[in-house]
Amino acid sequence: MDCGEGVQFQSLRFGLNIQKLDYIFVSHLHGDHVFGLIGLISTLSMWDRRKKLKIYSPHGLKKTIDAQLDYNKAPLNYELDFVELDTTESHKIIDNDHFEVVTVPLEHGIACMGYVVKEKPRPRNLIKEYLHEGMKISHIRTLKRGEDVVDHVGKVIYKNEDFTLPESPIYSYAYLSDTKYLETVVPIIEGVSVLYHEATFLEEHRSRADTTYHSTVMDAAMIAKLAKVDKLIIGHFSSRYESLEKFIEEGERNFEAIELAFDGKKIVLRAQ
Ligand SMILES: [Zn+2]
Ligand SMILES: [Zn+2]
Repeated sequence: MDCGEGVQFQSLRFGLNIQKLDYIFVSHLHGDHVFGLIGLISTLSMWDRRKKLKIYSPHGLKKTIDAQLDYNKAPLNYELDFVELDTTESHKIIDNDHFEVVTVPLEHGIACMGYVVKEKPRPRNLIKEYLHEGMKISHIRTLKRGEDVVDHVGKVIYKNEDFTLPESPIYSYAYLSDTKYLETVVPIIEGVSVLYHEATFLEEHRSRADTTYHSTVMDAAMIAKLAKVDKLIIGHFSSRYESLEKFIEEGERNFEAIELAFDGKKIVLRAQ
């Protein structure tokens, strides 16, 4: 999600394999969100990427990337597939067996959108050692669906919980950067496991937040509260602040489960 200047360096530093990327989701065309993209695209080609890379963004990104590639005179080894979207409405842009992705209209003085990724429910996990030859395929399918196997008079033959483990938890992630305080996002991101929300300013600079279409940490925390998310991660801090402690202090007034983002931070999600 987004592609700032440091993306290649930090991916190497934290051992992420950029060749595995299938999708890039760009929120808007301000430099701090896209200046790493042309470098990343070129490196992938130099490293002999062959598979297509799909890039979602507001209108205008393809033109800027194509212009840079034209001047480079170094054709790519792989295909770029740009999907440029209207940012005033929410769109479901990916829907496969494993996850779906929905866009979130934002207000930032320039076309801008966030993204929500939701895992799809997975079938229950069968305990293979407990299955035996007397079971029919149809019995196993029934158990996998989470149902008991019953005979023709409705008597339970195999009780589901004896043969399956609870399904793995389903997680969801909403990424909202950059935006002014905007309650219209709430129904779209409601109940996500993790919300990343920009929090550029503290309350003392609220007027600056208003004029630059950014949020304060209390704005971000209020959105987290209204949307009843499990966890809020904040970032995109203005460089004017030497210490970030006050961000947690102010944010906690509206929402307790709040954490600061920094490069390389790992957050482990656990079942509720
Ligand atoms: Zn911006
Ligand atoms: Zn920004």
